[in-house]
Amino acid sequence: MKLHEYQAKELLADYGIPVPRGKVARTPDEAHAAATELGTKVVVKAQAHTGGRGKGGGVKLASTPDEAREAAEAILGMQLVTHQTGPAGLPISTVLIEEQVDIARELYLSVAIDNSAGKPVVIASAAGGMDIEEVAESTPEQIHNQLVYPHCGFQPYQGRALAFATGLDGDLLRPAAALMENLVRAFNENDGAIAEINPLVVTGDGQLLAADAKFSTDDNADFRHAKLTELRDTSQEDAREVEANEAGIENYVKLDGNIGCLVNGAGLAMATMDALKFEGGEPANFLDIGTANSADAVVAALKIIGSDPDVSAVLVNIFGGLARTDIIADGVVIAKNEGLLPQPTVVRLAGTNVEEGLKILDESGLDLIRADGFAEAAQKSVAAAADAS
Ligand code: GDP
Ligand code: MN
Repeated sequence: MKLHEYQAKELLADYGIPVPRGKVARTPDEAHAAATELGTKVVVKAQAHTGGRGKGGGVKLASTPDEAREAAEAILGMQLVTHQTGPAGLPISTVLIEEQVDIARELYLSVAIDNSAGKPVVIASAAGGMDIEEVAESTPEQIHNQLVYPHCGFQPYQGRALAFATGLDGDLLRPAAALMENLVRAFNENDGAIAEINPLVVTGDGQLLAADAKFSTDDNADFRHAKLTELRDTSQEDAREVEANEAGIENYVKLDGNIGCLVNGAGLAMATMDALKFEGGEPANFLDIGTANSADAVVAALKIIGSDPDVSAVLVNIFGGLARTDIIADGVVIAKNEGLLPQPTVVRLAGTNVEEGLKILDESGLDLIRADGFAEAAQKSVAAAADAS
């Protein structure tokens, strides 16, 4: 789950990380009041689950409360498009009004999971305020890492090493190392997926300040963080992913292709996507229905796939172990009859109760494309998608 910048900053402040003074506003008048109360020049920042807001017109400087109101008028209600959002952008209903920071230097600092090392990693760079992917691409020597070993934690020497490497020496050495330690603590205690401060600012008077903050958590740990999950803003998420969550489908991920997939088990899901790609197709989603043995759950899942305008054909690929293929077949028939699945639909069933499952499909009289085995299912799906689009 992703937090908004203002939420992330509140969290980081709780861990002793210095952030600029700021206030949230949801109307231009509130923005005016916030700027008045702060009593300084301010920056008005769109709150959206994306980076690159600055370049997308979502961050504006304002010298007076009237200017802050104008900036908020321009930003509130916009669909903010950045290099991360796709062309539809994200709706903006909240702005953060913050005191302007006197920026002497901009650095980059984050904690993320290094999947190959199987540990959190602290990443620091003197090249702050820019896209870190770009820095990694063009000047990789500017990026410094320290792995966090779970049994001994983030060590003070690691903080000092990163501080030296990014030019945070002298009087900044201790506060920089302490800030890193606090960021790691915030990351660990909240089951972070990524905690990023970009830019981490050195102010004109030599203070460190988190001028931007992004924090996302590992969804699998939501149950341990009731208070954090209250901060969830579903307006920033893919509508179908939210619907899938509400229907109890944990594993639905929207992808860029045009073949909708209903499968069971994450392994089968990945193998199905590989098979489609191998045949020259592109999956539109990853949907693992698991062992949901209820036709309702199957219908809910197919409704989500069927209502996606990007989907031009659907592949139902089920290997029934604990999952019963006759229940899957029931769900497919209901979804078809209710008009929830208008796209050409390829069905491949194998495993538990497959005779009953196939019989249900046969007796439905529906125009379904049947496939035996993986390769045939993938070929027929790719062909159906090509015909339909
Ligand atoms: P992002 O584009 O979504 O990463 O949003 P940021 O919060 O990082 O803002 C983008 C850029 O706006 C920063 O890199 C800064 O250069 C600039 N910026 C943000 N806050 C301030 C501020 O208080 N004062 C000044 N002068 N610039 C700021
Ligand atoms: Mn930023």
